[in-house]
Amino acid sequence: MDTLLLVLNAGSSSVKFAAYGDGLEEICSGQAEGLLTAPRFQARRQGCEAESHTIPATGHDAAIAFLASWLRGAFPGTGLSAVGHRVVHGGDPAPGPSLVTDDLLVRLQALIPQMPLHLPHNLAPIHILRRLLPGLPQVACFDTSFHRTMPRVEQLFAIPRALIAEGVRRYGFHGLSYQYVARRLCEVAPEVAGRRVVIAHLGSGASMCAVEGGRSVATTMGFTGLDGLPMGTRPGAIDPGILLYLMEAKGLDARAMEDFLYRRSGLLGLSGGISNDMRELLASDAPEAAEAVDFFVHRCCREIGSLTAALHGLDALVFTAGIGERSAAIRAAICRGLDWLGVELDDAANAANAATISRPESRVAVLVVPTDENRVIAEDTRSLVQGKERAP
Ligand code: ADP
Repeated sequence: MDTLLLVLNAGSSSVKFAAYGDGLEEICSGQAEGLLTAPRFQARRQGCEAESHTIPATGHDAAIAFLASWLRGAFPGTGLSAVGHRVVHGGDPAPGPSLVTDDLLVRLQALIPQMPLHLPHNLAPIHILRRLLPGLPQVACFDTSFHRTMPRVEQLFAIPRALIAEGVRRYGFHGLSYQYVARRLCEVAPEVAGRRVVIAHLGSGASMCAVEGGRSVATTMGFTGLDGLPMGTRPGAIDPGILLYLMEAKGLDARAMEDFLYRRSGLLGLSGGISNDMRELLASDAPEAAEAVDFFVHRCCREIGSLTAALHGLDALVFTAGIGERSAAIRAAICRGLDWLGVELDDAANAANAATISRPESRVAVLVVPTDENRVIAEDTRSLVQGKERAP
């Protein structure tokens, strides 16, 4: 192995990473977390025990420097060929994976007011690596790119046109996950991959995407990652009148509203503070926990109905991400709510987290496809960097 291709997914207090060898085989992965308080570095090399270290200083700079030096120590004589970054938003119109240039950074920087909670953190390691390793090719892969194919009617909100022209429209997110699952579907279920599919990305952030012919035609998240399904701490779609009420009657300002929408609502809020974690809610005897789970399932069924209308029918439903890949109970409850669509679950296959969990006679195929956003970023980064090398 001569070089490593590194993939980074940076958030406010963590940086997740994976590194790939010359044949794009994953050779290690891990994360630096607690970056603002007590930074720890955890990594697992293929075939080795997991390791954990204290990072000597707080902040993204220290974490990236620690990762670079850990990689040098773990794989001596191996240099970085390129770095691919997960970036939540690429602007309007959404670009595909893009080589990081001064121009791109200026455009992304201008989007920060639209994505203040995610974008600055996604961009932090790009800036740090430009300083640490100038000349290293870096590629930005956007969560919005996959949804570029949505028809205009799916991208609109019924608001004054001047705002739409400014870029206030539905972008959709989790696109790297949908891209991976849509590609994987061609291998695991070619008979449905090109047909009308709803992919349910159910993690602590949750959304769904209607896919036809492998392309996004509708999705539940919107201008930000707040719309659509209820999530760990976000409410999903709510009556915007509630926000007016909170401003007028309770005096909430923008910061307090952000806290309400991103950190205090969703499963955590509805369960009365029991948990934002689906596993803990499922294990709890409290009626509030049961109600939060029931609400989540109900909203999933409603959104699948809506996406089925956008697709004019449904041939396959695919579950992915933490809850979608691992919770047989939630999948079963959602499938029960879809009996009107002709969904018939194979209970034993579902309990075993099998790849296909519907019965052969089910009118809608139901599948479980584990997602891997890092692989999409690695593949897109390599294609872009190799393409650049080949270009005259
Ligand atoms: P993120 O959006 O942070 O990447 P994940 O895709 O890892 O999140 O999903 C996290 C969610 O998956 C949490 O709510 C967690 O409780 C849930 N989860 C993971 N395993 C299970 C399980 N076996 N049963 C139910 N929920 C699970």
